[in-house]
Amino acid sequence: MTARILDGNAIRNQIYAELAQEIASLRDAGIRPGLAAVLVGENPASQLYVKSKIAACEKLGLASFLLAPPASISTAELLALVDDLNRKNDVDGILVQMPLPPQVDAKKILDAVTPEKDVDGFHPVNVGKLVAGRPNLVACTPLGVMEIFRRSGIPLEGANAVVMGRSDIVGKPMALLLIHANATVTVCHSKTRDLKDVVRRADIVVVAMGRAAMVTAEYIQPGATVIDVGQNVITDAAQAERIFAKFPEKLESFRKKGSVLVGDVHPEVIEVAGAFTPVPGGVGPLTIAMLMSNTVRAARLRRGGTASAAAAVR
Ligand code: NAP
Repeated sequence: MTARILDGNAIRNQIYAELAQEIASLRDAGIRPGLAAVLVGENPASQLYVKSKIAACEKLGLASFLLAPPASISTAELLALVDDLNRKNDVDGILVQMPLPPQVDAKKILDAVTPEKDVDGFHPVNVGKLVAGRPNLVACTPLGVMEIFRRSGIPLEGANAVVMGRSDIVGKPMALLLIHANATVTVCHSKTRDLKDVVRRADIVVVAMGRAAMVTAEYIQPGATVIDVGQNVITDAAQAERIFAKFPEKLESFRKKGSVLVGDVHPEVIEVAGAFTPVPGGVGPLTIAMLMSNTVRAARLRRGGTASAAAAVR
């Protein structure tokens, strides 16, 4: 058996087409949703992430604002900057790119973003609403995974779902969304006993551990749906050759570039799973798409008024 590939780029394109219509109707009402990105210092990975988020805003016609204070900024200065963005009417979403420098109290900064503009869904108020089954702005990656399930027709009701990883940004909100979708959910982490046996009982496996290719075929029940959130850059040739022994084109690309992106799921899982998200091109594109969706939603809820009340029910 070879798994059906769940194409994140195609799903992202569907979402963008729908968002374009919503953005057009907001424009008719005189509203242009805007996203402010706070990028502290000069971390190359963070620069790349923020660049792709701003490019997505431009593609969709959203306003974007880049604030790039130096790495020496203090907690108080960054709090003042966030406070300023909280007050700006043309800013609907605020994202503070992590990680922040060590002298900055990251929790304080995230808590300072007003929940109405918290498009990353990290604020305790938004987390609490998700727990209570009244989601408002929800963390983008797990929200994107739910779009993959919904748009690929993968049934969740009554399914045994295992989430591998319990981080605040992926594992925990993922588990909550699956519970609300009536799946029976088990959350695994580094202290889970008999991990393989637990995961093998799952109809649905969502993997978010940051462990390159750890989940091999023996973890997977034949026919299960496997969602790979992991993104690990491999630079070790021996490791790349072990993981991609049966995938010569990947090895070729590794030899050319000196690195390769690999998920937490071993590529051989394609031989046992029923459906599978590739890395790259699976969950990754959905994370940015849901950031755009959250920004539009935040604009509609905060500034949309009665004209868009019907749409706000989603
Ligand atoms: P994280 O905060 O480091 O959390 C990792 C989780 O995995 C923890 O709960 C940890 O358990 C668990 N874990 C680690 N090793 C394990 C093992 N050997 N067995 C069982 N559980 C184990 O990571 P994260 O921020 O959730 O990110 C996870 C991965 O997703 C990373 O590769 C990250 O790059 C990727 N990611 C991708 C996107 C995207 O857009 N595609 C977005 C976000 C994250 P403990 O709690 O016990 O330590």
